[in-house]
Amino acid sequence: MYVVLKPRIEAALRESFLREASERGLTAIPLPGLEGRALALIGPAAAAEALAAHAAVEEAVADERPYKKVARGLHPHDTLVALGGHALGGEDILVVAGPCAVETPEQMRTVAAAVRAGGAHGLRGGAFKPRTSPYSFQGHGVEGVRLLADVARAEGLPVVTEILDPRDLDAMLPHVDVFQIGARNMQNFTLLKAVGGQPKPVLLKRGLCATLEEFLLAAEYVVDAGNERIILCERGIRTFETATRNTLDLNAVPWLKQRSHLPVVVDPSHATGLRELVAPMSKAALAAGADGLLIEVHPDPSRAWSDGRQSLDAATFARLMNELRSLATALGRRLP
Ligand code: PEP
Ligand code: MN
Repeated sequence: MYVVLKPRIEAALRESFLREASERGLTAIPLPGLEGRALALIGPAAAAEALAAHAAVEEAVADERPYKKVARGLHPHDTLVALGGHALGGEDILVVAGPCAVETPEQMRTVAAAVRAGGAHGLRGGAFKPRTSPYSFQGHGVEGVRLLADVARAEGLPVVTEILDPRDLDAMLPHVDVFQIGARNMQNFTLLKAVGGQPKPVLLKRGLCATLEEFLLAAEYVVDAGNERIILCERGIRTFETATRNTLDLNAVPWLKQRSHLPVVVDPSHATGLRELVAPMSKAALAAGADGLLIEVHPDPSRAWSDGRQSLDAATFARLMNELRSLATALGRRLP
């Protein structure tokens, strides 16, 4: 809810309004203009409605959108999220690439050098893998995160990796530049609060069956816990279509960009499940306004321990990056 306080009220009345807001569990955020009389009330809707009857209030306007801190209303400027020496959410289009899973030191050294040579801005790789079957490779855990960080540092690339359990946070923290929250954990509220209470940026993937409103509300948990540095990632949703692994919802990109100040990236690898669709959907994502891409690359996709069918080899990745560079320029942006 938004309220406008009456003009020229006494300080004591304004203070009583703010005290009652806080007693009712509401945060009052001043909005620009109107001599500081306009405030957004964040908290339980019933509490805000009750407070609207306070003697200090001239006018109250209901806000139908359930997400607040991720919305542009309170925050008209785009949030920039640092990734190495670059920032996501501005003019630059950034690409994070790497294998689905951290497998071996040799695989990691090869792929890190390849994505670096191709022009990637970050290295990805899962060490805690959320696998559908308990019998599939589950990842090397903290040891894998260390290996990922070692090869990434050697190439000068920031590290993006998934966290599955808040209990691993402290062990991962020194090695990780961006914590990924996977699609299956988009509504793991304990995990969202945990990454919201630490200083590193968060790459939040859209849930397999999540609406865009639920997606923004998941991001709202992270901001509410204290961390505004969130990268939203559209990674495809589950539909009736079985020809592709998921259905890439490109509507999400402009919809999210219009409503939220957070950067939006697209993961064409998990969205399609098919490597031959990764290049066309990467280009479509940039055309739709995405700020970046998350792409799976493996030195030898046919031997990948997971997601080989959707992984690009080094040469294909390098070719795609060249094409994306020209496309970015045509779109009035820049792929550094
Ligand atoms: C991944 O990026 O490796 C991954 C597991 O993705 P998602 O959570 O989108 O399925
Ligand atoms: Mn994967």
